[in-house]
Amino acid sequence: MNTSATPTHCPYCALQCGMNLTPVSGGVEVTERADFPVNRGALCGKGRTAPELLSSRVRLTSPLVRRAGVLEPAGWDEALDRIAAGLSRTRAEHGPDACGVFGGGGLTNEKAYALGKFARVVLGTSQIDYNGRFCMSSAAAAGIKAFGLDRGLPFPLEDVPRTGCVILVGSNLAETMPPALRHLTELKENGGTLIVVDPRRTRTAEQADLHLAPRPGTDLALALGMLHLVVAEGRADEEYIRDRTSGWEDARAAAMAHWPEYVERITGVSVPRLREAVRLFCEPEAAMVLTARGPEQQSKGTDTVGAWINLCLVTGRAGRPLSGYGCLTGQGNGQGGREHGQKADQLPGYRKLTDPEARRHVAEVWGVDPDTLPGPGRSAYELLDAMGTDIRSLLLMGSNPVVSAPRAAHIEERLASLDFLAVADVVLSETAALADVVLPVTQWAEETGTTTNLEGRVLLRRQALTPPRGVHSDLYVLRELAARLGVEKGFPADPEEVFDELRRASAGGTADYSGITYRRLAEENGVFWPCPAPEPAGAVAPARTDGAGTDGTGRTTGACGTDGTTRTTGAGPGAAGECDDCEDASLDVFEDDPAGDVGAVPGGGSGPAAADGDDAAGTGAGPAWAGGGAAPAADGPARAGDGAGVHPGTPRLFLDRFATEDGRARFVSVSHRPVAEEPDDEYPVLLTTGRVVAQYQSGAQTRRVDELNAAAPGPFVEMHPRLAERLGARDGDAVAVVSRRGRAVAPARITSTIRPDTVFMPFHWPGEGRANTLTNPALDPTSRMPEFKACAVRLEAVER
Ligand code: SF4
Repeated sequence: MNTSATPTHCPYCALQCGMNLTPVSGGVEVTERADFPVNRGALCGKGRTAPELLSSRVRLTSPLVRRAGVLEPAGWDEALDRIAAGLSRTRAEHGPDACGVFGGGGLTNEKAYALGKFARVVLGTSQIDYNGRFCMSSAAAAGIKAFGLDRGLPFPLEDVPRTGCVILVGSNLAETMPPALRHLTELKENGGTLIVVDPRRTRTAEQADLHLAPRPGTDLALALGMLHLVVAEGRADEEYIRDRTSGWEDARAAAMAHWPEYVERITGVSVPRLREAVRLFCEPEAAMVLTARGPEQQSKGTDTVGAWINLCLVTGRAGRPLSGYGCLTGQGNGQGGREHGQKADQLPGYRKLTDPEARRHVAEVWGVDPDTLPGPGRSAYELLDAMGTDIRSLLLMGSNPVVSAPRAAHIEERLASLDFLAVADVVLSETAALADVVLPVTQWAEETGTTTNLEGRVLLRRQALTPPRGVHSDLYVLRELAARLGVEKGFPADPEEVFDELRRASAGGTADYSGITYRRLAEENGVFWPCPAPEPAGAVAPARTDGAGTDGTGRTTGACGTDGTTRTTGAGPGAAGECDDCEDASLDVFEDDPAGDVGAVPGGGSGPAAADGDDAAGTGAGPAWAGGGAAPAADGPARAGDGAGVHPGTPRLFLDRFATEDGRARFVSVSHRPVAEEPDDEYPVLLTTGRVVAQYQSGAQTRRVDELNAAAPGPFVEMHPRLAERLGARDGDAVAVVSRRGRAVAPARITSTIRPDTVFMPFHWPGEGRANTLTNPALDPTSRMPEFKACAVRLEAVER
């Protein structure tokens, strides 16, 4: 047995902690890997126990097909034939847009890329989106509005302990990604301060120097109140505002209407505490605001994040060393999963689907006519809501919306009403249990692929184990389905081959991976995008050079060229701006796409500056907004390409310019508005939802790991003692939480760490304690994010 350790990354959250997998009898064990700077060897219980699911009795090792209403084991050929037949039938009877595709933020970059290509090239459908829409889409939209692009953190996590103050908004790192807490602990050890904004005094909030506990859904007002005080107290950085921003006057007027006393009435946060927060944030030379799902999962999430970005801008924080705004992405590949074309409105390279130049570029890589590419489709909730009506068949990978979607009982009904449902998963999730065909796919340690963590650092997950018999990769599934649907080439099952095509498709886009190779990822411990190739960005292989085929709909398809050396026209960001006039105004809801906004490279360049390829120092200038070259130290190990004209990647963005057309960050003019569903006499309490440390997302994986399940066996309703007293509930009593969408029952957990007007439920479980039965699908008008974080409920005692 080979006993050497394989360095790789955790399969779960966006931190993508480094770990070694060492072969042991019957599988692998996780061992410490200290060389990865994000976690430096630390792992949470989920990462430590991740190998358990690899050899679990409950994992799927045979396809399942539904016969006479019952899922039964079947061979791969039968299962794939059934899926191809189901999708073909739908397409023939109802048209390509009746076929839906739903992906996930846990899929590797290669899978996300191949899934988007499969939807648009093989099925010809516009109806593809993914569960990341429920994760960070509001932060993405706000980042694009303000900075011209969206990358979770525009700086490495290693910068966090070195700043002066961090405002952490709606993030409970102690539960969601515990190793990241170490960066905040070090911040405090270095003399910095931590402010946590959360309606609950979480384990993270307990670490804070100042905890602000606003009513759920009012943090937009909180940010505006702080902004007001910054101005009123003469703390605005006028020089920075003049030199590096636009839109200040309108934003200022909106903020000045939010008097601290008014904000106190809305949020419940006192004026003295607001003032203290402003003082702590403004006094140090450097400071950051980091947001997570709290401000983002709201029907005004884009505006809420925009208001926090405004606070960074007015104080001159964004685009300065050890400062700025960042989003703490949630899912394992939450960042990469949104860059490669599985979003309803985007093509690979984070390009806008309505941009003619972007369509031309990607179509050329794919070897198809750009006119055959569908336009934007529905966002995730709207797609799920249309099942059984406009959407008749669905192919789903890497998601479990029966547990994770808002208004989940309704979504479960919609899924059950489909003509045909196919699911690829590692276990029989609650969604897979509804399927007509279930395909068992490989897990993280059984396949190689890349992910992009919350810092924009592209990482290589390496195969350490041979998959069990009966299991294939998602890439194999897409290749086989494409072939059965008439597209013989262009869907390799080899991940590196897919990645090489992805690099070409991303070239010249915002998230430019063209200079990143598997070899570099292995040697450099990850590479930050943008990382243009030394070749002129946008270079693509000649189209349709080898074995073009057809997909049965009249489109020409075929394998792409293989070496990417033939230069066509520059498809750099400069060209993308041309699409603004052509946009379909009805698609403005999908503003979370950087391509159009990035527009021309600041300064009028025609593509990323690295296209000149003559950077003797090997720093490869990259896009003008990248600013990585002037970054403080701590970039990690030496780069393979140094001195050879190879772009080093871009740990830090915006140090010189922002990615907007004029290089300036944009203030947004936003005002407070209430949650979509305010408490009333019938539903007098606010429900907010979140996670616990031992479970992950819908729990499909972690609920099947004994240690994790023992630590967190089921849901609960966290409530303040005063609320419990009014209800007559004691700790552990069953309590019903009722919203306009349904009813969930779980034991009461009574604690004074939550506001008396609010209850909290974790959302990892199905059944009667399913929190998302209750949540509100009211959507943010820009990001289409549902309002998971605040809805009106009432509580009822339950006799047991
Ligand atoms: Fe790290 Fe997240 Fe994995 Fe925990 S779940 S080990 S925090 S990547």
